[in-house]
Amino acid sequence: MTAQLDLATVLLLHKSSFLVGAFCFLYARWQSPRDEGLGILASGFLFLALASTLAGYGEQKLLPPYLWTLSSFTLGIGGYALFWIGVRRLSAGRRRLADWLALCVPVTGALIGLITHFQVVNYIRASVFNATAFLFLAASAVAIISDRSREPLPARAMLAAAMAVGANLCLAVVIGLIKPGIVPITTTYAFFLSIICHFAIALFALVLVKERAEAALRRSADTDALTGVGNRRWFLAHLPKSSWQGDCLIVMDLDHFKRINDRYGHHTGDQVLLAFADLVQKNLRRGDSFARLGGEEFGLYLPRTNKAQAFAIAERLRRAVEELQVVSNGQSVAVSVSIGLTAASGTERSWEDLFNRADAALYAAKRGGRNRVASDLAPAEPEPLVLSLDRAS
Ligand code: GH3
Ligand code: MG
Ligand code: MG
Repeated sequence: MTAQLDLATVLLLHKSSFLVGAFCFLYARWQSPRDEGLGILASGFLFLALASTLAGYGEQKLLPPYLWTLSSFTLGIGGYALFWIGVRRLSAGRRRLADWLALCVPVTGALIGLITHFQVVNYIRASVFNATAFLFLAASAVAIISDRSREPLPARAMLAAAMAVGANLCLAVVIGLIKPGIVPITTTYAFFLSIICHFAIALFALVLVKERAEAALRRSADTDALTGVGNRRWFLAHLPKSSWQGDCLIVMDLDHFKRINDRYGHHTGDQVLLAFADLVQKNLRRGDSFARLGGEEFGLYLPRTNKAQAFAIAERLRRAVEELQVVSNGQSVAVSVSIGLTAASGTERSWEDLFNRADAALYAAKRGGRNRVASDLAPAEPEPLVLSLDRAS
């Protein structure tokens, strides 16, 4: 296969692969302005394309050796430094000023080149260039993988793998230059494989951006925009599909919320909803599911919880809400909540049965005077019973 590869064509494709990658990054940057790293990645690839073009002109003796070697070396190293900065920003949105210190590497290289002219010797220039490229590519792969715990996107593995292969190809070129014959691939073949890596890096970076956008879309479809807790859609998706036995469902509705809106204004009403959601969230146990079902109604699903435990939890929440003082526009707003709870008996045919029973209990709490917890009776019994009559509203 090596014999069939024509070096001039491979070099042309090598340069083109950087250009195609740069345009892909620029297009994606335009489509998703929040992924700032893409712009830096594009400039990195453009620097590399320019470096490759200058090297091509130099090989054709169109430029003086001193000029093309120094400019292509500096631009190439600068391209890989920008690539690394772009990857770090794309991977985790880092905006560290210190990352830009990576540009000291090409600047230092250029200064040493100006003084010593080391870059004019092909063997030395290629070794230093590929060794630096190896370091930047390997560091980029590490950045992508180490951010996996913060944002576990499947494309990370493929993107990091493409970078790691690219890094190892650079290393193979260095080893081949220092000790010819050790590495079983020629420089031409390494160039050819690195073209595929550039395409793969551009492709998987775009897939990463797409997966990130999809994850954000899924999150916003499942999240209540005001309180940031799950919405009804999320809540229903998180309920077990069947077999609710041993679990409890709680439905909570703020009391006389319309009055709060009317008296203090809609903004204050929103503050109350936020404060309430925050309070409940701080009191959740691991495994509990809490969501805003709509308006001023919230749901709380308590897995592996018996009725007495659920009642204690609901009562604790009710008291905490009673003590909650929401201050808005300098005014303190008193809040209370009515709570209906039901325990799954195992006879339910759908979660709607559970919801109906919890709603009936909530209705009983409202009818009983509000600011109280009511639990349903066994499903066969006709009327829900108010179990807590702490305080008349
Ligand atoms: P009850 O004690 O019987 O539950 O009375 P209520 O006033 O709380 O219930 P009602 O259903 O009469 O009124 C609910 C109000 O909640 C009406 C609606 O304008 C208000 N509301 C619904 N969603 C929001 C919201 O996102 N923000 C604000 N500020 N108000 C909301
Ligand atoms: Mg209400
Ligand atoms: Mg309501």
